[in-house]
Amino acid sequence: MNKPEILQLGAYSERDEALLNEHFVMHRFFEVDDKEAFLKQHAANIKAIGTRGDLRVEGELIDALPALEMIAVYGVGYDGVDMDRVIARDLRMSNTPDVLTGDVADYAVAMMLAQSRAIVGASDWVRSGNWGNTGGYGLTSRVHGKRVGVLGLGRIGFEIAKRLAAFDMEINYSSRSAKPEAADWNFIADPVALAEASDFLFVALAANAETRHIVSKEVIEAMGSTGMIINISRAANIDEEALLDALESGALGSAALDVFEGEPVINERFFALDNVLLQPHQGSGTVETREAMGDLVRNNLLAHFEGRDLLTPVN
Ligand code: NAP
Repeated sequence: MNKPEILQLGAYSERDEALLNEHFVMHRFFEVDDKEAFLKQHAANIKAIGTRGDLRVEGELIDALPALEMIAVYGVGYDGVDMDRVIARDLRMSNTPDVLTGDVADYAVAMMLAQSRAIVGASDWVRSGNWGNTGGYGLTSRVHGKRVGVLGLGRIGFEIAKRLAAFDMEINYSSRSAKPEAADWNFIADPVALAEASDFLFVALAANAETRHIVSKEVIEAMGSTGMIINISRAANIDEEALLDALESGALGSAALDVFEGEPVINERFFALDNVLLQPHQGSGTVETREAMGDLVRNNLLAHFEGRDLLTPVN
């Protein structure tokens, strides 16, 4: 059998690319200058798209690929994919859930601790010689025993809450309905009420039309001048302009963010703020998880072309 041809929309690791090349003809579309000419020549043979959670798969591109059967997303979030076109074309689609859940939850907790206890600023303080020259760093803010709100008790939200329960924190959460597996925690459906009940608000929602800007100006201001918002989900879940306004005015105490509008080129207003921890969208960025994600992308594509069920289907 000829190797199936895949349109690759972004780089994967060297390891993953070597393994994919064993089974497929990978067209590195992101390196092609004249995309129109490329599609004219190859579109009829392209059977699948290999993409990443941080990239867009426009309806226009899907329409330009008449033989397309499948889209494999490296990442759990597939908000970048035009799902209307996926459904209209009856395409198969996979993502990489579960294997990254623990790492993203670890990272969210680490971001809260780092920002509350000023780990980054205090490290800079030591390196710059300030400790020896001028003395200690100053006091920071306690974490354990405080109140947590988890907005979106999905796979990652649940693991964040589990970890924070071990810090003797009060756990409040919001989901579309109360969850039997969260009987020890408080269900608060309304995001503003959840924010009012929380010192730390973790945003762990899927990004879609209904969750867009669910963390509104009202939710942000309900956290108050000592509250912290931690976002490891998608930027679209927060009204970023309102967040910046509140961080600048002090209406919100602080934030710790792994995701941004327009990333990796982010709003420069963030750079002037010392009450926000900025991370380059690397919640799942461990060697172990990234290998597991790469394996899932490859094994879902193999399953499709061997006529088997997908391992982790989206639809
Ligand atoms: P998940 O298990 O699907 O959980 C998604 C959560 O979003 C659930 O709590 C779900 O509510 C909620 N939700 C979905 N649609 C909703 C709607 N219309 N209204 C209200 N709530 C809605 O996803 P996950 O694997 O935990 O991933 C969570 C987020 O993390 C995603 O945005 C993903 O893209 C992001 N992520 C980021 C990184 C990173 O590197 N920073 C890595 C992986 C994932 P229910 O509980 O009611 O179902």
